[in-house]
Amino acid sequence: MVKFAETAKRLFGNTFVCRNCKTKIRGIPTKIMKGEIPCKRCSKRRFRPVRKK
Ligand SMILES: [Zn+2]
Repeated sequence: MVKFAETAKRLFGNTFVCRNCKTKIRGIPTKIMKGEIPCKRCSKRRFRPVRKK
């Protein structure tokens, strides 16, 4: 899990986008993946990395 966090950090720079309202938030990838960080605007916990094709 540590390895994943480091990889995610390198790839995404700790920035994620809310799938619901597209607000960008910054946070530790592992916490975001676990749903521990809610979106500031809509309080949902589903995020995707910023760089997604
Ligand atoms: Zn949101």
